[in-house]
Amino acid sequence: MELVCLDLEGVLIPEIWINVAERTGIEELRATTRDIPDYDVLMKQRLGLLEAHGLGLAEIQAVIDTLEPLPDAVEMVSWLRQRYQLIILSDTFYEFAAPLMKKLGSPTLFCHRLEVDEKGRVVDYHLRQADQKRRAVEAFQALNFRVYAAGDSYNDTSMLGAADAGFLFCPPEKVIQEFPQFPVTLDYAELQAAFSGVSR
Ligand SMILES: [Mg+2]
Repeated sequence: MELVCLDLEGVLIPEIWINVAERTGIEELRATTRDIPDYDVLMKQRLGLLEAHGLGLAEIQAVIDTLEPLPDAVEMVSWLRQRYQLIILSDTFYEFAAPLMKKLGSPTLFCHRLEVDEKGRVVDYHLRQADQKRRAVEAFQALNFRVYAAGDSYNDTSMLGAADAGFLFCPPEKVIQEFPQFPVTLDYAELQAAFSGVSR
């Protein structure tokens, strides 16, 4: 039995925080773990900015609802689901991803969650589990699945390393240089060929 674990942002949908920054005009929301390596510091800054600008969950979801999956992503999800069990592994939050997951045909998503108070303000975030992508791959292997994985960035590399075959998809140049062990794919046709090539 074969299973595919796929990253979400940068593979099937655009980067959520960058697009929220663009559409709300809050430039500081563009910061990523490349600017602020400590994820907790980064997330607290993001939540503080949302609060300072009076953006609750409903306002942010309205912004996210204006985003669309990447071109041909819906067809890619359908191609994968016809051939493999598909699990999307993402470090986003269910509350943010919801509008976009619907547009992708609601594939299974494992990610994290936000804490929202009675006024709809986002007051905290909760990681379901540290290094969840790698641990999900290992758990599926323990269930006797052969696991193939693909993602675009640093937070995918431990997942790619744990999988029976791991591929980078449209990664930044720095990631290609630092992780030469993972084959690089640059569009969905190449990624489909990569999965087909390792399938039994
Ligand atoms: Mg990504």
